[in-house]
Amino acid sequence: MPQQPFDGRVKNFLLNLARVLNMRIEKVLELYLYVSPETVKIVEVVERGGEVVGVRLAVRSARRQDTWYYVAVGKYGAKCTCEGNTLGGKICRHIIIGVITWNMASLLKHGKELDLSQLTWLRTSEREASE
Ligand SMILES: [Zn+2]
Repeated sequence: MPQQPFDGRVKNFLLNLARVLNMRIEKVLELYLYVSPETVKIVEVVERGGEVVGVRLAVRSARRQDTWYYVAVGKYGAKCTCEGNTLGGKICRHIIIGVITWNMASLLKHGKELDLSQLTWLRTSEREASE
């Protein structure tokens, strides 16, 4: 994924994301840097009315190299197949990676940053960042 032309905007987005999640920027940056063709596969970019309204992707487990989690993020919520989300209903690191990927897709396709204020589920959910 070419990231260079968007460095400043991506940085701002990551700062905003850290603020919304009440998470340290270092942790958000770590998740951002985890995204690579070997660890994240985009399954579908959902577009409606000239904007990216959601993304489906597979994220490789950081602990188990052969395990992939399937994530869907959109305006009305997010789902992941990992235990933290399916059993605990928590915002896991895969969902955060999904939001970061969604922003990248939106920037690449429409030059538009993802508006985090629309994602009310991000603020209200519990977070599980261990896996
Ligand atoms: Zn997950």
